[in-house]
Amino acid sequence: RDAQALAERDKENLRSPICVIMGHVDTGKTKLLDKIRQTNVQEGEAGGITQQIGATYFPMEAVQKRTRVLGDADLKEYKLPGLLVIDTPGHESFTNLRQRGSSLCNIAILVVDIMHGLEPQTLESIRLLRDGKTPFIVALNKIDRLYGWTPMKDGGFLQSFDQQNRAVQREFEKRLADTVVAFAEQGLNAVPYYDNKNLGKNVSLVPTSAHTGEGVPDLLMLLVKLTQERMANNLMYISTLQCTVLEVKVIEGLGTTIDVVLVNGYLHEGDKIVLCGLDGAIVTQVRALLTPQPMKELRIKGQYVHHKQIKAAMGIKIVAPDLEKAIAGSRLLVCGPDDDEEELREEVMSDMTNLFSRVDSGGRGVFVQASTLGSLEALLEFLKSDAVKIPVAGINIGPVHKKDIMRCATMLEKAPEFAVVLCFDVPVDKDAEDQAAKLGVKIFKADIIYHLFDQFMAYKKQNDEVRREQAVGKAVFPCRLRILQCFAKRDPIILGCDIEDGTLRVGTPLCVVKTDPATKKKEVISLGKITGLEINHKSKDIIKKHEAGAGVAVKIEHASYESAKQFGRHFDEKDEVVSMISRESIDVLKSTFRDDVSKSEWMLIAKYLKPLLDI
Ligand code: GDP
Repeated sequence: RDAQALAERDKENLRSPICVIMGHVDTGKTKLLDKIRQTNVQEGEAGGITQQIGATYFPMEAVQKRTRVLGDADLKEYKLPGLLVIDTPGHESFTNLRQRGSSLCNIAILVVDIMHGLEPQTLESIRLLRDGKTPFIVALNKIDRLYGWTPMKDGGFLQSFDQQNRAVQREFEKRLADTVVAFAEQGLNAVPYYDNKNLGKNVSLVPTSAHTGEGVPDLLMLLVKLTQERMANNLMYISTLQCTVLEVKVIEGLGTTIDVVLVNGYLHEGDKIVLCGLDGAIVTQVRALLTPQPMKELRIKGQYVHHKQIKAAMGIKIVAPDLEKAIAGSRLLVCGPDDDEEELREEVMSDMTNLFSRVDSGGRGVFVQASTLGSLEALLEFLKSDAVKIPVAGINIGPVHKKDIMRCATMLEKAPEFAVVLCFDVPVDKDAEDQAAKLGVKIFKADIIYHLFDQFMAYKKQNDEVRREQAVGKAVFPCRLRILQCFAKRDPIILGCDIEDGTLRVGTPLCVVKTDPATKKKEVISLGKITGLEINHKSKDIIKKHEAGAGVAVKIEHASYESAKQFGRHFDEKDEVVSMISRESIDVLKSTFRDDVSKSEWMLIAKYLKPLLDI
């Protein structure tokens, strides 16, 4: 009896694990949740794309009901009160959840399309899951698309698989094997869940169909099994409050509300709460704690249930005054009678001030605006990463207004290529759009970080090309020549030369440096531009040093006959001929042709050519 009582008490002390769904776009995340929930969120959404975070609470009875088809072979006992599933738009928010303390997310479902295998966002998700040491299960989704699949609605996978004909089974096995190999390439040991003897070491693959519901019972069963067997310690209920704002929403009749996930602890009606706001910390009082009816999601309209107090883990809507400037992704703290309000204000704002302190606001870079603290953080991390390296000069959270465009417009003078606002999952108001068009500020919008990157890179490439075209006339590539012979003395001058250093290009202006024997004063004499190059009577546009061989014929012409110089009078074979650079031409090389100039050519500029500018 004692043991039984103890078990009962333990059960009361376990809280619901929090689960996040991630994966590449279109793998079926929304549909899968939808299937689990048996409602129709996806159809109500534009283009079926998941855009905002919601949370769904599954009481254990509901889970048990769904897993009944599996019998009790795998899981005899359900110790947890339920499951709280957070529906994220992708890995971005998840990064946040991880970085804001490991406690928010206990387990993840990584959805992979069995027909597509591992896609770019899948790999990104895997990286984040490993970095955060977050356990995860793979839903190998869309098995119903295997050619010839006979569906068995809402069935357990193995039962359903047994009913398929041999060709379908072979097709499945082949794709399963491919997936296992793909995971192995990522250094992960992936195993079909029914063969997984070591849940701690191997990643379980659960074949599912979000359309027919097959494999969904298996997925739920494994979620419960994994969390209660391996994470019971992390799921001990503690009274310390852990709570995060998922969304800030205006609701008719309620004003601005916040949707939060209560990870641990209690919230009460009347609690004094502290959270992050755009203009500093917000301190306010909870007017109402609302939850939707079970098995519905916060965003679906319907009757709310009012609570005097709520125990974790739970997705809750909070009604309170002064939430207009609240920031999604913020932590939420409760200020009790013994707490120092000022301290809590500072603590809650530190997440935001840390982000702002990472941006070089005086420097050159793009402007970044995102919907939540977490997505902003993820975006900044991404832009900073080695593979990307896009500098950021300004950040903000929430919808893009005219003032954000004005701020970005200051970059037009400093570095026009960065006069860009990257908008991640935020609306841009009409005024802002108009202003941007007027000033020439570029706006890129996306709900996936990768897409923002792609847009920016395409824009940059196009920009670079235009700039190169414009710059060609201004660029002067360095060279140093020794005169071997003169073929024509004036207008045009034609010289036989050796390339001592650098590259010869048609269009490069040339000069010689003369020292007046009497005054010892140096003088730069412009010879004109190269208008033709020949090696062995073959004409060329560009000749590099190693290509010069026995000599190059260089034709030089000046803009006018009057200013044209003469070989033998203004200069002769004792003079070294070099590119005639300017400060501007060096800047153009640096900004636009950096990759076309070799190290030794930069040396040539620094050692021989730059000093000419001071003459
Ligand atoms: P998300 O972007 O990951 O949330 O993907 P969605 O849930 O919006 O699904 C993307 C598309 O794939 C939709 O057209 C779904 O109907 C379809 N889809 C999702 N799951 C399945 C599945 O299991 N089988 C089939 N045949 N189609 C699916």
